Amino acid sequence: MSVHPSMHIIEDIQEVLISEEQIGSKVAELGAQISKEYEGKDLLLVCILKGALVFMSDLMRCISIPVSIDTMAVTSYGASTVSSGVVKIIKDLDVPIEGRHVLIVEDIVDTGLTLSYLVSTLKNRKPASVKVCTLLDKPDRRQASIVPDYNGFVIPDKFVVGYGLDYMEKYRNLPFVGVPKDYVWNEEH
Ligand code: 5GP
Repeated sequence: MSVHPSMHIIEDIQEVLISEEQIGSKVAELGAQISKEYEGKDLLLVCILKGALVFMSDLMRCISIPVSIDTMAVTSYGASTVSSGVVKIIKDLDVPIEGRHVLIVEDIVDTGLTLSYLVSTLKNRKPASVKVCTLLDKPDRRQASIVPDYNGFVIPDKFVVGYGLDYMEKYRNLPFVGVPKDYVWNEEH
């Protein structure tokens, strides 16, 4: 079945899982916690593109201590629906991280394979520390033993979009996190 794309992306959403207001107050909380725990330290925030773009831009404005930022883009090898655990770096950091405190900012941890690869790759570069801050944690499907040091919300095993997260590059600009309607999976893109 193919359905014409909706004029407004909000029409494709079945359920708002986390509202804009809930995200706003949680991000402020995380920012305050990070500001306190990294006070006096040389902190580098590493945004994992593209999913963490929106989260990163809000989070960094809730951090009151000096920070630097950088970005990385990664992709999984293999079939798109099954995480193979083999991650390819498409865009690496621009700066060396030796001796610095690195905080990876990621949209969601699902199997944990992407983050466990990223953490071990960055640890090899001899930073002072590497920690992880995720907006969402989907623990049901975990394969690698990754526990985010900072996390916004634990969610059930549902595919979510919005606030940076996409389905086929769509829905990143929704201001909340939601579950798409079933017909979205059958749309022609
Ligand atoms: P992991 O390696 O932890 O299985 O996968 C993490 C990546 O899978 C995330 O960065 C994200 O790109 C994608 N992902 C996992 N769950 C979801 C989801 O519910 N919605 C979206 N849009 N992407 C997801």
